[in-house]
Amino acid sequence: LPEQEAFDIEYWLLEEAKLARMPRPKSLAGRVALVTGGAGGIGAATAERFLREGACVMLADIDEAALATAHDGLARSFGADVVRAVQMNVTDEAQVATAYAQMAVEFGGIDILVSNAGIASSAPVEETTLALWNRNMDILSTGYFLVSREAFRTFRAQDIGGSVIFVASKNGLAASPNASAYCTAKAAEIHLARCLALEGAEGGIRVNVVNPDAVLRGSRIWEGEWLDQRASTYGTDKGGLEEMYRQRSLLKRSVLPEDIAEGAYFFASDLSAKSTGNILNVDAGNVQAFTR
Ligand code: NAD
Repeated sequence: LPEQEAFDIEYWLLEEAKLARMPRPKSLAGRVALVTGGAGGIGAATAERFLREGACVMLADIDEAALATAHDGLARSFGADVVRAVQMNVTDEAQVATAYAQMAVEFGGIDILVSNAGIASSAPVEETTLALWNRNMDILSTGYFLVSREAFRTFRAQDIGGSVIFVASKNGLAASPNASAYCTAKAAEIHLARCLALEGAEGGIRVNVVNPDAVLRGSRIWEGEWLDQRASTYGTDKGGLEEMYRQRSLLKRSVLPEDIAEGAYFFASDLSAKSTGNILNVDAGNVQAFTR
């Protein structure tokens, strides 16, 4: 190489090495997120993902003890100034309004809502009581409506747009045995997201959905009644269920809370600036989506 060219290349390589060592600006720096169900598996993993990208996060959950544990763990890792917690039942209008008021005081507003708080229940339709049906509708459909309505009110008042992410379920698209109340409530969440995407677009409010397939590890849903009922529906234990879901996925991989968090991060960040009303199935290519 001519001397000048060799010098230029060396100079360029040194500059590149310097750039690679420079800290990248965090993609959610300066943004504030509310994560409902933040004490649970997917919610806590999502909060952690956002905190790693520089966001401030308010965890909201009905379970006070689990909320304190999740909050303290994240505060130890990221600092108490960037993570807060509020006890809130998503079906309680007044508690939802109070949580948003607390966010305004502590973080000065909100940019991202992850509506994720949820339950799962399983029963054949003839054994589904009205109480069980209503519980699913209340927490999943009505709860998602209440937290996103409050987000819309705040986004409109702030006038800077925002991102709403619903953690729904692939069961909101595909029927699952002995879970009509849960599947129907999850389908309503998905359709609510579409309606809100239509309403929010003009004000720069994006609304998208992440649909997990079964996430057994880290989820408290898979520790109680739902686990027993699914185990009896499919005639196997927790390990057998995880293997069943893994085997029936196209990619033959188990879905983890961190995988759902990655989807939520995509919709929270500017990577998805041109996506609204969309559904991302994080299901390792679940076989129910295909005819085969
Ligand atoms: P999880 O039980 O670990 O977390 C859910 C959290 O929601 C819990 O901390 C719980 O206390 C909270 N919660 C429940 N009712 C509430 C209420 N009324 N108000 C406020 N908080 C409430 O479960 P997860 O697996 O992390 O589930 C998160 C979301 O993902 C749920 O909406 C669930 O339906 C959905 N999902 C989960 C799976 C899965 O297999 N784990 C699959 C598809 C969809």
